Amino acid sequence: MSFDVVVVGSSNLDLVARTLRLPGPGETVLGSDFSQYPGGKGLNQAVAAARAGATVALLGAVGDDDAGRTLQSVAANEGIDVSSLAVADGVATGRAVITVDASGENSIVVIPGANARAHVEQLPAATTVLAQLEVPVATVIAAFAAARKAGSRTVLNPAPVPPGGLPDELLSLCDILVPNEHEVELLGGVDRLLARGVAAVVVTQGASGVTVTEAPDAATWSVDAFEVDPVDTTGAGDAFCGALAARLAAGDDLRRSVRYAAAGGALATTTAGAVPSLPRAADIERLLSA
Ligand code: ADP
Repeated sequence: MSFDVVVVGSSNLDLVARTLRLPGPGETVLGSDFSQYPGGKGLNQAVAAARAGATVALLGAVGDDDAGRTLQSVAANEGIDVSSLAVADGVATGRAVITVDASGENSIVVIPGANARAHVEQLPAATTVLAQLEVPVATVIAAFAAARKAGSRTVLNPAPVPPGGLPDELLSLCDILVPNEHEVELLGGVDRLLARGVAAVVVTQGASGVTVTEAPDAATWSVDAFEVDPVDTTGAGDAFCGALAARLAAGDDLRRSVRYAAAGGALATTTAGAVPSLPRAADIERLLSA
């Protein structure tokens, strides 16, 4: 069995509090409501790719607890293969504590738990391998090395950026890097990333759209953001990355895939939460042709 997309990444239970504005350091604010959602960049991006029409497997780890079983069934219900989603003993399923303000801005604390145990025993065969950094960097390096050997395309969403930045070994294994504006700064800028062997850097810029720079001559082009009324930007980046991987695996070129992904990212801002907000192919196509 070969998949369009294998996602190597985290699965979390997201605990979401809504407030009028985000609290500052040492400050307490009253919230208006609280909900729990499945999340984690790995699971989110796997769901986004599946809803965009790709066959998807998720490689990662959850704990042997109710949250882990919930997340496994969420993935399976989306048609995602979970045979590479390990159940780790003696460690809790990952959690993310998210605060969202009235404008849709958010702040997030992630507790990795079982995600720290994610490792590659055998990478399922795939056209595109998509990863983020809520699992150990060594796991992503192992996955991308296996992907390169198998002739798969590698896409890395470098989020969150590790304190010491990214090892050159990992950058040399990335075909496409998808940082947001903040992450690309932390990584030393686009030129530095291209010099380390990344073929294309796709910088997502929220409501300002996307700027892409491609090797070898650092040719740059942009895609405008689609106009929507955002209620919660949680999941926009994940919707973007999952949709991008799905379209690349389907054979679309980078420009077409980025435009499709930008439509997916825009739609994700129009609904609360991460997984619930991830758009389906039909909705993305409607926005693209509007
Ligand atoms: P992240 O959530 O990782 O910071 P971004 O906020 O850059 O990622 O969002 C990813 C992509 O989703 C953007 O490049 C854009 O295409 C789309 N997007 C995000 N926010 C908006 C918005 N307010 N309006 C329209 N599109 C958006």
